[in-house]
Order: sequence, then structure tokens, then C-alpha cells
Amino acid sequence: KHNDIETITGQNYVNEVFETVKKRNPNETEFHQVVKEIFDSLVPVFARHPEYMEQSILERIVEPERLITFRVPWVDDWGKVQVNRGFRVQYNSAIGPYKGGLRFHPTVNASIIKFLGFEQIFKNALTGQPIGGGKGGADFDPKGKSDAEIMRFTQSFMTELSRHIGPDIDVPAGDIGVGAREIGFLFGQYKRIRGGYEAGILTGKGLGYGGSLTRTEATGYGTVYFMQEMLKEKGLSFKGSTVVVSGSGNVSIYAIEKAAQLGAKVVACSDSEGYIFDSNGLNLETVKRLKEVERKRISAYVEEHPHAKYVQGSDGIWSIPCDIALPCATQNEINKKSAKMLVANGLKAVGEGANMPSTSEAIDVFLDNQILFAPAKAANAGGVAVSALEMAQNSARLSWTFEEVDAKLQDIMTNIYRNCVEAAEDYGHPGNLVVGANIAGFKKVADAMIAQGVI
Ligand code: GLU
Repeated sequence: KHNDIETITGQNYVNEVFETVKKRNPNETEFHQVVKEIFDSLVPVFARHPEYMEQSILERIVEPERLITFRVPWVDDWGKVQVNRGFRVQYNSAIGPYKGGLRFHPTVNASIIKFLGFEQIFKNALTGQPIGGGKGGADFDPKGKSDAEIMRFTQSFMTELSRHIGPDIDVPAGDIGVGAREIGFLFGQYKRIRGGYEAGILTGKGLGYGGSLTRTEATGYGTVYFMQEMLKEKGLSFKGSTVVVSGSGNVSIYAIEKAAQLGAKVVACSDSEGYIFDSNGLNLETVKRLKEVERKRISAYVEEHPHAKYVQGSDGIWSIPCDIALPCATQNEINKKSAKMLVANGLKAVGEGANMPSTSEAIDVFLDNQILFAPAKAANAGGVAVSALEMAQNSARLSWTFEEVDAKLQDIMTNIYRNCVEAAEDYGHPGNLVVGANIAGFKKVADAMIAQGVI
């Protein structure tokens, strides 16, 4: 079909492959969404690089190297046997072992895992670290489960996953619903099964058994470092800015912390049930204790800070006027309506701490209104970048100081920003970091694939 490559335009090529993606993966809306966003921004690449079309690079890159689904049976506290479905997508290993988090959430299915895995390929390439793309998880709901149930589920999950992973094969980490506690249980179970100590099998480990300093903070801090670069170029900064951060998990907490350290006033955060608004600026110690230690709902904040307001329903958070919005909760949390409201209320910049938190219509609203927009695969890459640094420390059997890792993280985020800006400019979309991030990440992976033959 592609005999006459000269007459095929990049747009035709992209459309054609996207049609086959939809046919081959019916009803996977999140997966289609991310593929379309990435494909559309790659159009200008093909005019200059016909070899990518000749080599069917899109057809290859969009098909996972491997998608594993498995049964996860476990016994609940009442003695009843429960069954969940586990996933691991080993998407692309052109530039390193598969790398990406595990998500435990009732919405997890093949579409969610593939959207996250596909995004992860390009994010990981952008970090400049030698890591391929992967993702996994289960449709398990950790909410309301006891520690013992979490442990039994997690051990069962690892019992199957262990046969597919390895420090040079595939290295999982956390994502939504998988934090320090779960990584600990996963690590312990892997070690029992293998009968050897392979520190580099997982990242996000505790500091006492092979974890890296700064890994906990890395995603949130990284998002703020990225935004800092972006704001600087327009003469803006966090100092004196009003910031809204959605979510109250690991990414949100450390985005709030760094933004506040840089002089911003962070007035709101949320969980899946509602949001809190504190006009004095959030008390982060309270948020940390409620979420990290007591595992309570964010509504408990107002019991300790009665001047603050709790509102049910999490998307109302985008009606709060702010200079900088950092969506750090989950996919598609900002729709067109919320984006318009933010813009009408004087928004200057958006930094995506979560994966795909803005719908494609919302992104259009931001770009059409000249809002500074930092896309997830660039802005939240600090987490996985420090995971790669954790792998490096594990291989060398040593550990770097907080300051060393933090300095490397800042360097990495600055480099990602520069690469995105340059790629956007080079391919005719100056200032559009969506296009810049997609092109910069894609080219690195595509070139490695071509160099390695038909893989
Ligand atoms: N789950 C995180 C992400 O979306 C981190 C993955 C990792 O550290 O491997 O990038």
C-alpha cells in the first residue's frame, strides 16, 4: 500500500494507522484518546522523515510488545475468596527495560493500562534515562480494605507478576493506589519467590531497603520545577501566585510543598469525593497527616481548620480563581467547561501532574487562549526519572544524598523543557509543548527501533 511513499502525506498516514488502531482495539476510549493526541502532533515529522513511514513505525510502536492479563485470587477478612484482574503491558523496550507504575483502582481495564503504557514510552524517553515503557495494575479497590487484605491481595498479584519481570527486563513502581506500603509488600513477595535479593526489581522502595532519597517527592517537585522554567520565560513565577492543586495523593502533596516553598499560595486540593478551599493557603502538615498516616478523606481537614471550606464533588475545584492550575488527580479531570472557567477566572498556566488530566477539548481551550500548558508526559516525568536514578543506585550498590538526587532531578526537568521547546520550534509549532513533547519523545524511540531492525 505504501509503495508510493512520496504521495502519502503525514496526515494521511497518521489517519490510516489510527483507523486500524480503533478497529483492532474497539471501545478503548482512553487508549484511543492518547493515541490520537500523540499521532496528531507527529504529522510534521513524517514530511522530513519518510523513513518512519517506510518502516511502518507507527503501526509497530502502537502495538504493545506484550500485554499480560492474569487472575488475582485472594481471601478477604471474612474468609471469602475474591478475584480481581491483573495487567502488565510491556509496551516498548527500544531504549531500556520496560518501566512504569502499577495502578490499583476499580476503573483499571485494558484501555486504561494501554493509555498509560503508551504515554509512558514517550515520557520515559524524554527523561533521557535508559528506560522503556510499561504499565500495570489491577481493578482492585484499596478503599476500605484492611492492611492484611492489602497484603494478601498484593502478594497474590506479585505471585503471578514475578514471572514476567526482572531488574533488566521490566521494573514496576507505584501509581494511583500503590504507594510505599504496597511497594514494600510487593518487594517482600518477589524476594521470597526468587530466593535472592534483587534490589532493582521495583522502584519507589523504602529508604531502608534500596529506595532513593527524593523519589517520594520527585513527581510533584518535578512538575513544579518544569513549571518554573516555563513561567520564567514569560517573566512569571510561583512567588505570589495563587495555585490550585487537585488530588491529595503523593503527586499533589509534593507539588503543593514545592510550590509553597517557592512562595506560592496553594488554596485548594481534593479527593475523589470533594475539595477543600483554604483562603489562607493550605496547611500541608494537616493534609500530609490525614492522607499519608491516617488515610482519611480530605473532608476531615475542615474539622481542624474550621475557617476552610469543604465542597462535595471534585470538579468544582476548577471554579476557584487561580494563576496556576496543577491537575494531579487522574485522567480527564478537566473538561472543556472547567477549562473555560479557569481561563475566564484569569488562569496563566497549567501543569499536568497526573496522566492525561485534561480532555483534548480542554487542551484546545488552553492553547487557543495562549495559556502556558505543560503536558503530562513532560511535566510529570520527574517521578519516573528518579525511578531510573534509583535503578542506577541499586546497580552500583550505593546511595546518593537528597541534595544530589534533587539537583539531578532539576537538571532533568530543565533538559526536558528545553528539548520540548526546541522540538516544537523545529517542527513549526513554537511554544506548543504538546507537540514538542510528543515529537521529542517519539523520535528518540523511533530512531532506536529502526537502528535495531524490524522489532
Ligand atoms: N507511575 C508514575 C508515572 O506515571 C511513575 C512510574 C515509575 O516510577 O516507574 O510515571
